[in-house]
Amino acid sequence: GRAAALRARMEERLLAARFRYINQQLYTSTSQEAAQLFQSDPEAFEIYHRGFAQQVGRWPENPVHRIIRYLRRRPASLVVADFGCGDCKIASSIKNKVHSFDLVPLSPLVTVCDMAKVPLAAESVDIAVFCLALMGTNLQEILEEANRVLKQGGTLMVAEVASRFEDIRAFMNAMAQLGFKSVSKDLSSAFFHLLEFAKTGPPRRHRPAPGLRLRPCLYKRR
Ligand code: SAH
Repeated sequence: GRAAALRARMEERLLAARFRYINQQLYTSTSQEAAQLFQSDPEAFEIYHRGFAQQVGRWPENPVHRIIRYLRRRPASLVVADFGCGDCKIASSIKNKVHSFDLVPLSPLVTVCDMAKVPLAAESVDIAVFCLALMGTNLQEILEEANRVLKQGGTLMVAEVASRFEDIRAFMNAMAQLGFKSVSKDLSSAFFHLLEFAKTGPPRRHRPAPGLRLRPCLYKRR
């Protein structure tokens, strides 16, 4: 009856509030702190993922499907690393060898680790992917790790929420200093930017690259 409907609505609101809170924590802490958060509270991870899937479900297109289409056009012999893989949509959709990294295993395909320190040899990967996963404040450390595992000339794909970019030119300049040359950028979606880079070499600086900063992606109360 009405009481049950009210109760269900209240529960839904509480979950939404918890999602927004966890989401905000992920965008405002380092990846090490995020790892600790999920280790100490595995339920937080479930709530986060439910909320994340709901948010992206409202978009006209999920960027992970664009990335999968892109990967299918490239040789299946290429080795892929999916940083912040979530439920492993990429690994379960392509024939390539895919290393899937996340803080908590939503699927048996996941290797649990902090993406700032992945268990891969240097220059062992052809394509590194960050699909809506550049969350920590230690963005530079995370991208340096991607640079380390990528082969020379390897591909870096980044899909990020459009509103997170303060200054896309400054961001591209910072990426160049980290050893990533822009190959193509698709800014046509109002929801996400899709950026493709090629690794030109190791980072040219280890000092903080200004311009790399991304705004946290905070969701409004509905
Ligand atoms: N790429 C997936 C999931 C995106 S949600 C997709 O597009 O569907 C962002 C993911 O990044 C979450 O699963 C979150 O747990 C993960 N993540 C955030 N910080 C991380 C870190 N430091 N190390 C590994 N994974 C991380």
